[in-house]
Amino acid sequence: MSARVIAPRLSALGLALLCGCSDPSPRSLPAPSPAPLAAPLPAAPPVQAPPVRRDGTIYAESELMGTRFSINLWLPPSQTAEAAGAAIELAFAEIDRIEGLASEWRPDSEISQLSAAAGGEPRPLSPDLYTLLQRSKVVAEATDGAFDPTFHAVGQLWSFRPGAIPPSAEAIADKLPLVDWRGIELTAEGRRGRLRRAGMKLGLGAIAKGYAVDRAAQLLSDRGFTDHIVEGGGDTFVSGTKGGAAWMVGIQRPDGPGSVGALPLRDRALVTSGGYQRYFEHAGRRYSHIIDPRSGWPLDEAASALSVSVLAPDATDADAYCTAVAVMGPARGMEFIESRPELEAVIITQDRQLLISSGLTERFIRPPAP
Ligand code: ADP
Ligand code: MG
Repeated sequence: MSARVIAPRLSALGLALLCGCSDPSPRSLPAPSPAPLAAPLPAAPPVQAPPVRRDGTIYAESELMGTRFSINLWLPPSQTAEAAGAAIELAFAEIDRIEGLASEWRPDSEISQLSAAAGGEPRPLSPDLYTLLQRSKVVAEATDGAFDPTFHAVGQLWSFRPGAIPPSAEAIADKLPLVDWRGIELTAEGRRGRLRRAGMKLGLGAIAKGYAVDRAAQLLSDRGFTDHIVEGGGDTFVSGTKGGAAWMVGIQRPDGPGSVGALPLRDRALVTSGGYQRYFEHAGRRYSHIIDPRSGWPLDEAASALSVSVLAPDATDADAYCTAVAVMGPARGMEFIESRPELEAVIITQDRQLLISSGLTERFIRPPAP
């Protein structure tokens, strides 16, 4: 059995390959010594080849977007482990780049700048932000605003730290009219966008992670590594197979380790979200970090699903629809999923019932009874 040890750092980003290496210590740099002014630059250290596990896969992980991302890649015979290590490093760097432009918590991010300019003239947008907003609008419309990235005008009033208290009813009522995805105005010509009303704010917390997973997966495929799983904080994209055999993906048990079941997947995304991941307690009730855009209040945990998993053609959609289904609640959420042929879902209700959409009942594999 190979021990899981973090290998030496691969780059300035602090990416780490998880492997069976025997030396987990970070590579120490030589102490700076007085050098002659014209000293030649040291050669860049070669990318270390990550270890290949017995089943032909390479596994790596990195802390990004405030969570843990992992890549599990099946190494085709035509490729080297070095090339895989380099592709993995690029994929992690891509996720970091997406966070840099799509995080509403970074004042200098492109999304924050767009929010700060709300009510003003249209601004040119990067291809990534344009795509993210375009796809956000499609999901917002399809879910009748259950998913709405403009929720952030009220969302920013809420803190989910322990001991936090809810904002006043007046503060919520004041911001609620600014929550409306129709106010995201995009123009394809010149790739421009703006928020219609001053004070509107965007938060991409329910879609950016899925988009980052898709981008990383695309990058791996572009480099010839078409068989892989990219996962980040519950958002998973599965590409190809593991040497011809289907990848199996488990659905996390909401109340402990292990899974409630598993699905064989290929070229599909599976995203799981549950209030248990982040919540806030007030007056004896628990509220999840998902906001109902109609009320401006977080979902009351007692009335919502314990966890929602959505299967979609890509992780961008799966992520956004997952949050929308959580807002809709188990019954209406499942009804919505059944109305969309490209979406499937597994919902765990408060009384621990497993609701499985009709397209999955045959494929869902339950764990053996204890
Ligand atoms: P996780 O972060 O566990 O993957 P989700 O994908 O459901 O969970 O995303 C929750 C995040 O989405 C929240 O932290 C917030 O940033 C954002 N969000 C909350 N409510 C909504 C909503 N109604 N529409 C769009 N985004 C939302
Ligand atoms: Mg999500």
